[in-house]
Amino acid sequence: MGIRLHFWGAAQTVTGSSHHLECAGRNILLDCGLFQGRRQEAQEINTHLAMEPTQLGDQNGAGLSSVVLSHAHIDHSGNLPWLIRQGYRGPIYTTPSTIDLCDPMLKDSAHIQEGDAEFMNRRRGRRKIIGAPPGAEPVEPLYTQEDAAQVLRQFKPVKLHEPQLLEGSTKDAGFSVSLTNAGHMLGSACVLVEAVENGQTTRLLFSGDVGRKNLPIIQNPDAAPAADYLIMESTYGNRLHQPIGPVRQKLSRLVKRVAARGGRIIVPAFAVERTQQLVMLLHQLTDEKLIPELPIFVDSPLATSVTEVFRKHTEDWDREACEFYHQGDDPFGWEQLMYTRTVQESKALNDLHVPSIVMAASGMCEAGRILHHLKNGIEDPRNLILITGYQAANTLGRKLVDRLPEVNIFGEPMRLRAEVDSIGELSGHADQNELLAWMEPAVKGLKKVYLVHGEPLAQLALKEEIEKRYGLAVVCPKRGDRFAVS
Ligand SMILES: [Zn+2]
Repeated sequence: MGIRLHFWGAAQTVTGSSHHLECAGRNILLDCGLFQGRRQEAQEINTHLAMEPTQLGDQNGAGLSSVVLSHAHIDHSGNLPWLIRQGYRGPIYTTPSTIDLCDPMLKDSAHIQEGDAEFMNRRRGRRKIIGAPPGAEPVEPLYTQEDAAQVLRQFKPVKLHEPQLLEGSTKDAGFSVSLTNAGHMLGSACVLVEAVENGQTTRLLFSGDVGRKNLPIIQNPDAAPAADYLIMESTYGNRLHQPIGPVRQKLSRLVKRVAARGGRIIVPAFAVERTQQLVMLLHQLTDEKLIPELPIFVDSPLATSVTEVFRKHTEDWDREACEFYHQGDDPFGWEQLMYTRTVQESKALNDLHVPSIVMAASGMCEAGRILHHLKNGIEDPRNLILITGYQAANTLGRKLVDRLPEVNIFGEPMRLRAEVDSIGELSGHADQNELLAWMEPAVKGLKKVYLVHGEPLAQLALKEEIEKRYGLAVVCPKRGDRFAVS
């Protein structure tokens, strides 16, 4: 009786979120995220799902009958096209905003997969020309734009706080879910799973990614609902963030300083959420005359598409963003702000030598249009490179944060003479204290906590803190671990 838990992705690591649950002969997946890492390891992990491909087309028997998606980030949603490619034709339940965000995000991810395969094949081809032994079969992309488009057809919208019986389940056997606001990104949800078998109900809460209070635009996380078991993320289980409050003053100070010396601000920004938050903050600061009126560019087709989704889903905005809107302001559009889609428009920005702000992906400066802007501006000490998110080891972004005197851009050594500063306050992930505070309302009923979506050190610190503060048993499962709970 109860639920069989099968941990598969984001187990002792931070990407590839995916957990398989079974109850009364019904199988569901919570998330189907892309594992991001070294090419070979990623290929191996992303092509092996928690269930056999033969079970994926069989929604009426013992196969996978439903998928529930917590939010649109690629490490939670990005392997859905592969699942579809393997034959899954059942529903994927999630919030309306998440569905709309997944449209540009999964297509962008498919575009990257296709480009990656093409690059590998070209490289192999070249080797052939110089007489190297012929390579294996041509590399196929993990999935294509067509697979991504098929995912969109299988989504089923679920409103927050409205219980949903999952496909293949009945009131007396199997699963229903209700989603609560996770406050992590637009449309993000925590998933309360209710599993019924032999007249007994087991409640399991899956946190998805837990956000923070007072982030711009999005609403605060809902209190954790009562549950018997909790699967919780632990990304920043060993970290404490700066408070969000002073970020406006800091941004205003930086913009004024750089504008006064005639410089430009180059912002490597994640296309989803961080760009929209910065845009709204800059709009507010401009209106309040706390920064001068500068031209501002969002130089990213993905960020531009995602901003359209933000505009559409006002029901998910917080009060501040709604009030701003009702005063007649579009948070994501005003005279000085321009969205550039084409490469020509992007290149034209290189000739602009007046104080301005350019935001472009990628957030860690590993690829994309930001590289052109950095190449163009990194050697001018009047400029500022403004880092807005986490920079993983060995990325160009990390080298900039570490202020290496020289960095390579497009294979060319460049001197780092621009100023570098960071605003980490807009992190979308709860820190240790915020995770502990979020789970607190559920603590009384909990029998056990499973930590996922964290590196081992972060998990260990959070595990110790939960055990000490709440006296709960905590497990950090590995990929493939199975548990039966009731
Ligand atoms: Zn996330």
